[in-house]
Amino acid sequence: MTLKSINPYTGKVIQEFETFSDTEINEALENSVEAFDEWIRTTFEYRKKLMLKVADLLKESNSLLAQTITKEMGKTKAEATAEIEKCVWVCEHYAENAESMLHREAVATDAHMAFVQFEPLGTILGVMPWNFPFWQVFRFAAPTLMAGNVIVLKHASNVQISARAIQGIFEKAGFPSGVFQNLVIGSEKVKDIVEHKAVKAISLTGSEQAGAEVAQLAGKNIKKTVLELGGNNSFIVLEDAEIDKAVEIGLKARMQNAGQSCIAAKRFIVHKNISEEFIEKFRKAINKLSFGDPFNMQSDIGPLSSKKQAEVVTQQVRKSVEMGAKVIAGDMPEGALYPPTLVIGVKPGMPLFEEEVFGPVAPIIIAQDTEEAIYLSNLSNYGLGVSLFTNNLEKAEELIPEFEDGAVFVNALVKSHPRLPFGGTKQSGYGRELALNGIREFVNVKTVYID
Ligand code: NDP
Repeated sequence: MTLKSINPYTGKVIQEFETFSDTEINEALENSVEAFDEWIRTTFEYRKKLMLKVADLLKESNSLLAQTITKEMGKTKAEATAEIEKCVWVCEHYAENAESMLHREAVATDAHMAFVQFEPLGTILGVMPWNFPFWQVFRFAAPTLMAGNVIVLKHASNVQISARAIQGIFEKAGFPSGVFQNLVIGSEKVKDIVEHKAVKAISLTGSEQAGAEVAQLAGKNIKKTVLELGGNNSFIVLEDAEIDKAVEIGLKARMQNAGQSCIAAKRFIVHKNISEEFIEKFRKAINKLSFGDPFNMQSDIGPLSSKKQAEVVTQQVRKSVEMGAKVIAGDMPEGALYPPTLVIGVKPGMPLFEEEVFGPVAPIIIAQDTEEAIYLSNLSNYGLGVSLFTNNLEKAEELIPEFEDGAVFVNALVKSHPRLPFGGTKQSGYGRELALNGIREFVNVKTVYID
């Protein structure tokens, strides 16, 4: 079997990859076990040196790596460049802070001495998506490796050039063989790997379906999972919000990465009293966006990751229109190129309200008041994050507990930050990445009691 990397802008196959045989998969898993035996004994200082080298290599080859991302999944070169920069940030953050984050913690008890220490688990499987082909991997890999675990990566089938480049960076930085291994496999092989005795835990970022299947299997085998399964984030604009700022940030929150981000604003819930002004300004801003060749520095938006992805989004819009919504900006897609689109009259029950839309489509939902805005926001099966726009910060703070999501960002777009935990509730998954919470997901929290 082969995996194909296809340039979504040209539709041309860039490269094909022969998948691993079962023997090769087994060898890789056995290598990881051997590698862990050595890696667990390394000091934080040593791991830090290697992780900082990874950061340096990412910096040095930023332009080339960004080019790979743009070719392989279509985001603009500027976005791809920023993605590599963010990977540098997360590598440096965990290189500098892992030791203190995992430092043994003394606890006062009736014992002579009691403490908690954090020890690595072994081989961790990462199942990762194509939308941020570098960031998703580094966000998982930097804390996991710094904690003393080793990694096998099952990257999305359509971004294998990126996957190979990432493995190359870890090797070049001097990580011992077997500590970070990219498995060239399709998703049908994940089952055997989850069940393999070498694998101790799994981190998956992707669709609900993939997450549910992997978690079910992992549960059967009593293995821990962290799931990051996307979202349907609301972007709430209250009556007293600064409209121009909400428009500017809303545009970025929805259109970045051509809308293919789990934390993108996916439902604009706007107070009825300011809805006309917001919609008109948002429409003008959307019409100014240029989309096309992702290598053209003038393009704000490149193609979606595939023609198939554009077809999915087309169906979501079409069905919502059939149910009463109205498109007031945007047009039909051409191949994988999906034009920035604004849809009004969106209501619960429509695909644009209920489903995660992975494309540059902004649906507007009108709320009669703040209470209804919160109700509509929580109506989603997803619970990743909320953006709340208001000038009344005191009121905003009071409203925070009302939201069922993993994050609330006030007057800002929901974003990931190495110092802040990242993850969701409900169908968005469980567990946290980044920050202290992220590095402690894949460790044995060992209680020590000495009398
Ligand atoms: P998938 O969930 O299919 O892909 C994500 C990763 O999971 C890939 O590595 C994929 O491998 C793997 N995978 C898929 N199915 C299984 C399975 N049954 N068992 C184990 N691993 C599996 O996402 P899609 O690319 O199909 O995108 C579909 C939708 O999912 C998007 O439109 C979006 O709504 C959502 N999504 C959310 C993401 C997020 O950031 N939270 C990221 C990507 C998608 P392979 O590529 O070989 O199939």
